Amino acid sequence: MPIEFGIWLFIYGGVYMRVFVIGAGIVGSLIARELSKYDIELHIIEKAPDIGWGVTKANSAIIHGGYDDPPGSVRARFAAYGNKLYDELSKELDFGFKRVGSYVVAFKEEEVSYLKELLVRGEKNGVSNLEILSSAEIRKREPNISDKAIAALWCPTAGITEPWEVAIAAIENAQENGAVVHLGERVTNIIVRNQKVRKIITNKGEYSADIIINAAGLFADEIAKMAGVGDFEIFPRKGEYILLDKKLKGLVNSVIFPTPTKKSKGILVVPTVDGGILLGPNAVDLPKDQKNNVKTTREGLNEVYEKAKKLIPSIDLSLTVKTFAGLRPETKDKDFIIGTTKVWGFVNAAGMRSPGLTAAPAIAKYIVEKVISEDLKINLTKKANFNPYRKKIPHIEEVSLEYWEELVKKDPKFGKTICFCNNVSEGEIVEAIKRGARTLDGVKFRTRASFGRCQGGFCSLKIMEIISRELSIPLEEVKMNYENSKILNGKVRI
Ligand SMILES: Cc1cc2nc3c(=O)[nH]c(=O)nc-3n(C[C@H](O)[C@H](O)[C@H](O)COP(=O)(O)OP(=O)(O)OC[C@H]3O[C@@H](n4cnc5c(N)ncnc54)[C@H](O)[C@@H]3O)c2cc1C
Repeated sequence: MPIEFGIWLFIYGGVYMRVFVIGAGIVGSLIARELSKYDIELHIIEKAPDIGWGVTKANSAIIHGGYDDPPGSVRARFAAYGNKLYDELSKELDFGFKRVGSYVVAFKEEEVSYLKELLVRGEKNGVSNLEILSSAEIRKREPNISDKAIAALWCPTAGITEPWEVAIAAIENAQENGAVVHLGERVTNIIVRNQKVRKIITNKGEYSADIIINAAGLFADEIAKMAGVGDFEIFPRKGEYILLDKKLKGLVNSVIFPTPTKKSKGILVVPTVDGGILLGPNAVDLPKDQKNNVKTTREGLNEVYEKAKKLIPSIDLSLTVKTFAGLRPETKDKDFIIGTTKVWGFVNAAGMRSPGLTAAPAIAKYIVEKVISEDLKINLTKKANFNPYRKKIPHIEEVSLEYWEELVKKDPKFGKTICFCNNVSEGEIVEAIKRGARTLDGVKFRTRASFGRCQGGFCSLKIMEIISRELSIPLEEVKMNYENSKILNGKVRI
């Protein structure tokens, strides 16, 4: 049955503007947040039960400098600009972002020539302050780097973040500014008449739509096909990772790349925002029908370890916390597909391979300011009361003692530690639930509880009890993540 949103409708020169963003990954979330600055009826439809659980959940989390995308490509156009936008964005949305810089390391003379090429390419892409450093200089800055390194390209503007946190922050802010978020709702069809978008159909209902933004990650080709503009295909390319414990904080201070290959940026050693060390990813092309295959493999993880050791020989796998894999949404042309299509109102933000995370804030601005405003000629009006700020959940591990004391005075739950690996309090978990966490993973990605060394071995049950209590659901109904991920088989005695 058609669902009407009478009270949500806004008028543009006599036309109602109902905008739907498909996908709450980093790209869809930031587009939604950008759109929420304007007086429109805005919906985000996401098939997963939570935000940022697609490609956005498993990647290297680097805000790339933007020097290695071919000049003239769509990637190059958005990466360096996206990088610049992260400073302001992280302040407004209060997420973790550190400009730690990156090195591309050369081990042979021909690799040094490639570093010089990258430097020139970077300058063409608008990346400033790139520099080629001697082996002595690199080792002074990164003492654990291999003594076989002979030079490195230094990019001071590269950074690291937590991509799922950026997506969650953007959606929270979009909601604060009036957007409606539909989680656990899958788009199944798009109705087009006279080459114009009319309706979006989901497993839960149907909605009249004027503009649809396709930010469906690995599945953007299938969504485009629904609108009759499926002239591209997306192939999954797997990348496997090994995450090492925070005890290794300082093993590297910046992102360490090898000299890239034709296929990928190579296997890296990356410091994470919370102090861990990430090794990976490899690059394995999968058949088109394996867009959900995020299994790690012995061969893949061995490759990651061996190649990471070439950069940092002292890497110690005994401090491994977790292994995981992510899937890059690759296209034949290895480039982003952004903009209008022959169906009026259907807009692609697709083919978001790396550096999609970096480029996402720039893509969001482009979709609104160029694609919707200029190409579709829609006169968007800015909201007078748009609130650009979102505050993160206070993490007791990060706040000052004085502020922690204040928090505990207001709510003693901030004084009760639940996750000892990452020092997460009950107060943080309750706040995560208030903000939309419904599962163990929902809590984990909002608070880092169970993200640490024991991977939830000690705290999962305690977190489940809190979820059960706060949502008034039986303990055995608490899930790990998706609908079919029950943890308990039946009633348990605690
Ligand atoms: C191994 C790897 C390493 C990477 N490293 C980096 C890096 O260091 N830096 C960088 O800049 N980029 C990196 N990237 C790229 C970056 O992660 C992606 O570009 C980005 O996460 C893509 O975001 P997205 O929002 O387009 O896709 P997603 O995060 O996948 O979001 C799309 C959403 O659409 C939803 N969806 C799909 N179909 C439907 C439907 N029918 N109905 C409703 N919802 C639907 C999905 O559930 C999903 O949540 C890396 C990628 C990988 C895989």
